[in-house]
Amino acid sequence: MVGSYSEILEKVERGEAVVITAEEVAELVESGESSRLSEVDVVTTATRAVMSGTYAVLSFPVAGPASFLRAKRVWINGIAAQVGPCPNENLGVLDLVVFGTAHSRDRPNYGGGHLFRDLVERKKANIEVETDEGRTLQADVGLDEMPHARLFGSRHAFKNYSAFVNAGKESVNTIFHSRGFLPRCREATFSGCGQINPLKNDPFLESIGMGTRILMNGAEGFVMGTGTRSSKERPNLSGFADMHQMAAEQMGGFVTSAGPECICSWAVPIPVISKTILAEMARPDRDIAMPVNDVNSRTVIGQADYGDVWTDADLLVEFDPDNCTGCTPCPVVEACPMGAVRSEECQVSRSEALCFHCGLCATVCPSAVFSCRLGAIRLKTAAGSVKSIPVVLRQSDRLRAIKLTEELKRRIINGSFRMAEPVERIG
Ligand code: SF4
Ligand code: SF4
Repeated sequence: MVGSYSEILEKVERGEAVVITAEEVAELVESGESSRLSEVDVVTTATRAVMSGTYAVLSFPVAGPASFLRAKRVWINGIAAQVGPCPNENLGVLDLVVFGTAHSRDRPNYGGGHLFRDLVERKKANIEVETDEGRTLQADVGLDEMPHARLFGSRHAFKNYSAFVNAGKESVNTIFHSRGFLPRCREATFSGCGQINPLKNDPFLESIGMGTRILMNGAEGFVMGTGTRSSKERPNLSGFADMHQMAAEQMGGFVTSAGPECICSWAVPIPVISKTILAEMARPDRDIAMPVNDVNSRTVIGQADYGDVWTDADLLVEFDPDNCTGCTPCPVVEACPMGAVRSEECQVSRSEALCFHCGLCATVCPSAVFSCRLGAIRLKTAAGSVKSIPVVLRQSDRLRAIKLTEELKRRIINGSFRMAEPVERIG
């Protein structure tokens, strides 16, 4: 029911609020029961996707006091970190910033996103320090030995995103594909969770503001403001959360044909504080625009919508190893951006914990070991033509995003997640 933020918080506190997930909203709309949305107080929204604008700030001891004057250069699992801003002179302590898109100098398919997940999985990271005096130190350090480890988003949770095609004549390597992107608009990739996306439900930032409590990778965190490249038409958010509380399955690295990228997830409660939010909640995938970009020029060459890629598509990629005909080598092992597939002694296996349900395996495998309806974008150009282009890879994981909306709903209802009214508007 449309109410003020404080009225809704009081209802939540009393256990009287109607809290439903964005997926449940969509089911009500689809079944012709939109009128029941007026009873809703809070809708839980989420997105999980490749989010390049991610960095960690880490601070931890690496040696005893007076072991070295200052660190000059540092690598974590072979990934170069930015040293500072604090010099920590003679303390034996490092302050570091690590980019989610940084690449390991030693392992081609390992980057900042992989490192963040490894740390959250409590794996030790190898730290190499080059000191001011030219000495080298090494240590193995885990997350529990890092008193300060926060993950930040400088540009996260776009109000949905875009589809990509390669309109050129040559295949290109790009962060928007995990293989060479085939030319002449033969295939499409996309990002965006459609109707369950947080900013789709609050596009004018009426309820989301500075200080809004969120779940980032499963950990409680806060919105800091809008992010880089945010605009009124295409807003996005910046925020942070403590890595010690994060869930590994919500994050990780994602290998593209231009190197490793970083996955993050957000879940955001939207209190129904305006008629605009109430109306936007009901907007289905089919009514959410998805611009189609050429990866070469990064210009919009036409429009599609999120109904093309989520309505009648499978969220889950089915796996049936009995269909395997034993190609040598298995091309899916190389193509899988999560490293989730193995093929050993003619036995193919998939890690459920790692799988992002991107669908690329269903595109690559000739024998239906992996199957998934990925849909096709209907590219509408300014000239009025419509071209159907098959989706071959998704860079958003709506399956896990839906689970996140359910998790947030559960936590709000049982009182373990306290919604926080923003301290300042950012819209
Ligand atoms: S591509 Fe498919 S059929 Fe071929 S080895 Fe891999 S899983 Fe088996
Ligand atoms: S859907 Fe297929 S290609 Fe994508 S992460 Fe899962 S196993 Fe790998």
